[in-house]
Amino acid sequence: MARDFRYATGAAVVPWPAVGEPYQGEDVLEMVRFLLGPGADQAAYEQALRQMQAAIGKLARVASPASKLTTGRQVQLLEREVAKLLKAKYALFTSSWTMGAEIAYAFAGVGPGTEVIAPAITFFATIEYPLLMGAKVVLADVDPRTLNMDPADVARKITRRTRAIVPVHLGGHPADMDPIMALAKKYDAMVIEDAAHAFGASYKGRMMGTIGHFGAFSFHEVKNITSLGEGGVLVTDLPYGKDLAKARFIGFDGSRRIKDWLYDVVALKGKGGYFPGRMCPATEIQAVGLRVQLKRLRQIIAARRRAARYLTTRFRGVPGLIPQQLDTREIKSTYHLYLLQVDPKELGGDIQDLKQELGKRGVVQIPHFAPLYKFRALRDLGYDTKAMERSCPVAEEAFRHRFTHLPIYGLSAQQLDYLAAAVIESAEAVRRRKRR
Ligand SMILES: *Cc1c(COP(=O)(O)O)cnc(C)c1O
Repeated sequence: MARDFRYATGAAVVPWPAVGEPYQGEDVLEMVRFLLGPGADQAAYEQALRQMQAAIGKLARVASPASKLTTGRQVQLLEREVAKLLKAKYALFTSSWTMGAEIAYAFAGVGPGTEVIAPAITFFATIEYPLLMGAKVVLADVDPRTLNMDPADVARKITRRTRAIVPVHLGGHPADMDPIMALAKKYDAMVIEDAAHAFGASYKGRMMGTIGHFGAFSFHEVKNITSLGEGGVLVTDLPYGKDLAKARFIGFDGSRRIKDWLYDVVALKGKGGYFPGRMCPATEIQAVGLRVQLKRLRQIIAARRRAARYLTTRFRGVPGLIPQQLDTREIKSTYHLYLLQVDPKELGGDIQDLKQELGKRGVVQIPHFAPLYKFRALRDLGYDTKAMERSCPVAEEAFRHRFTHLPIYGLSAQQLDYLAAAVIESAEAVRRRKRR
C-alpha cells in the first residue's frame, strides 16, 4: 500500500503519494529528445526515436514512477558521495553555488554594518549575498602569478567588522589558504571558499572547499561537471552542518519524514544570531545527472591536466609568455581554465595586442574575468569603484595588460596543437610589430 511521501503516516487506503500529478512516459521521452538533440541523419534519428518511444511506453506500463522528484534518495546518495570524496562532514546539494553560499554567509552573520573580503577578480555571483544584504564588500588585490586573492592585501584590509573572507580558486587553481585561515582566526571571521571552479582540486593534501569553514561548489553547465545545467554543493565540518538541510528548505528538513511539520519550521542559529531558512533545493533528476558525472571526474581532470601540461611545455621559453603553473606536490588544480599571462616588457606589447593576433588566427577570445569594480552594479550601489581600483593595482594591471584564459577541454590533439602554435606565432607577431 502506498504511503504518503512526506508525512510519517501509516499505510494509506486512499494514498496521497504527492500533491502534484505524476509525470508520464512521454515526459521522459521528451527529456531524452532534448538532451540528445536532433540528429544529423534526420531519418535515422526519427526511426530510433520511434523505437525508443515504444520502449519507454512499455517500461512506463510495467514500472512504478518515482514518487519523489526533489530532495529524496538520490540527493542523499549524492551528498554522501560528495562528502566521502572530499572528506567533509556535511554536504548539501542546492539549486546553485550562489544559494549554497547564501546559507554560509547567513551563518557567518553577514548583514548591514559588516564587511566581506573577496578577491578583485572573480565572477560577480561571489558577492551577491553581501550586496543584497547591504554588507560592505571589500576587494582584495590578487597574487600576480595566480590572480587569486593575495593574503598580504587581505591583512591590510581586514577589520573587526569583517565577518567573512571569500577566497576564490580561480580556474581551479587553489588560493593560498594557510595565511588566509590564520587571518580569519585572528579576526574571528569565517572563511567561505568559492570553489566553483575547484571541485577535485587540493592544497597540501586537503580538498578545496574543506579548508575554510564552508566551501561552495557550482555545477552550472559551464563548470567541469554539471548537475544538468544548474546546481551547487555546500560543505562544512562545523557542527552547524546538522542544520544545513533545514537551511535549504525554509527551516525544516524536507529530506526526512516529518511528524509535525506545521510546528517544525525553525530559524537557524548562526554565528551572528538567528536567520530564516532559505528555499533552494535541487531535484532528484539533477542529483542523478551529477552522480553519473562524478564517476567521470578523475578522467575529466586528468584530460585537462594533460592539455595544460602540453600548452605549458610549448609556451615555456617563448619570450614574453608566462604559462599556467602546473601541479606541484602541494597544489593540485582542476584546470577549469588555462591561465595565460604575458610579460609586456618582454613581449613588446600587451595581452590586448596578443588577443588581436589570436583573433586573426581563429582563436577567438571569450570575454574573461574582469575585476569586480569594473561592473556597473557596484557603482549603481554607491561604491567608490575608482578607490577600489586604486586599492587593487595588481588586478588592474593584469586585467588591462597581462592575462587571458584559453580553452583546454574537449579539444582534439590537432586543435590543441593549433592553439599552441597560434599563441606562439601571435607572440612573435607582436614582437615583430613592436620592433619596427
Ligand atoms: C559559476 C561561478 C559562481 C556561481 O555559481 P552558480 O552555481 O551559477 O551560482 C560563483 N563563483 C564563481 C567563481 C563562478 O565561476
